[in-house]
Amino acid sequence: MSGPILVFVELGSGEAVGTPDRVSLETLAFARSLAEGLGGAPVEAVLFGADASVAGPGLGAHGAAAAHVVMDTAIVGAYAPAAWGAALAELAIARGAVAVIGPGTDRGAEVLAHGAARLGMPLAANVLAATPGASWSVTRQRWAGSLLEDGTLDAPVRCLTMAPHAVAVDERPGTSAAAVAPFAPTVSAADVVVRVMGHEPPSKGSISLTDAKVVVGGGRGVGSSAAFSELEELAGLLGAAIGVSRVVTSNGWRPHAQQVGQTGQRIAPDLYIACGISGAIQHIVGCKSAKRILAINTDAESPIMALADYAVIGDLHQIVPAISAEIRRRG
Ligand SMILES: Cc1cc2nc3c(=O)[nH]c(=O)nc-3n(C[C@H](O)[C@H](O)[C@H](O)COP(=O)(O)OP(=O)(O)OC[C@H]3O[C@@H](n4cnc5c(N)ncnc54)[C@H](O)[C@@H]3O)c2cc1C
Repeated sequence: MSGPILVFVELGSGEAVGTPDRVSLETLAFARSLAEGLGGAPVEAVLFGADASVAGPGLGAHGAAAAHVVMDTAIVGAYAPAAWGAALAELAIARGAVAVIGPGTDRGAEVLAHGAARLGMPLAANVLAATPGASWSVTRQRWAGSLLEDGTLDAPVRCLTMAPHAVAVDERPGTSAAAVAPFAPTVSAADVVVRVMGHEPPSKGSISLTDAKVVVGGGRGVGSSAAFSELEELAGLLGAAIGVSRVVTSNGWRPHAQQVGQTGQRIAPDLYIACGISGAIQHIVGCKSAKRILAINTDAESPIMALADYAVIGDLHQIVPAISAEIRRRG
């Protein structure tokens, strides 16, 4: 049998502390389908952090036969991209891995880039599909998803990151737990010179933008920081997260953590309510995985209309409070 496919699994912080993030679970589903193409190669997860041994066994339901938990406190105590990449590379060599895969998140991309460099292998980023063979055929996103590129990956260890939401999470309850295996890598002091020194927790009760079922989005059309209270009220009634366009973060109306798009978060809610957002390609790339889009815009010709399932043409300052009032009226 061939060596395993190693999957870097990112654990959430804030309220989701210690929980595998959704894109990592999607990446495990992607690895499971690759493993079938490789005649049943094992899928093995790699986790870092104090909570890793708790999260590890549950990854069995997502196709992982084993969960390697990186134990070195010098590197698990804080996120240190070079050290995590070095540990991943060391484990890949120790396990004779045929592939090392990670989620196409900020952290996934960073760790995989370091890991591939340590292995001396090429990295295919933002992959949507891959077909294993003597050389692997891959399709990947470029230019924020406006271009798809077909290529081949010729390397003894295939390193790639998976584009967020390219495949669905594939959880099969009742599958055996992943066997947790501690791994103590060799880490040099130089590998930990860049590391996270602290975290700012999200405000209490806030809903994660990437996991939210409903996102209320606001763009330049909202007009000011203060006017976001109308969107916050609607979000509160719907149990939704707030997402924004880059104009909004550039104007300092909302924090960058809420930005949706090419240089922000990729979201995949059941419903995205885009208020006063024109639908520039750099924004669309972040919200096109939404199941339904409701656009509220004064301009019937704005590009978001081409993507919207529903649209209300009009002033958001009238429409958003009216929707909130109707939700409240219906109890
Ligand atoms: C390299 C690069 C990366 C980028 N990354 C991102 C990114 O990650 N995310 C992102 O969002 N953008 C990104 N951008 C910027 C992007 O190109 C657009 O400039 C931005 O998305 C536009 O934001 P907007 O829709 O809020 O504003 P606008 O394009 O100005 O649209 C405002 C909309 O509000 C409507 N409107 C105005 N008043 C009202 C009202 N009262 N009621 C209802 N509707 C109203 C208007 O009709 C218009 O459609 C990036 C750009 C570049 C070059």
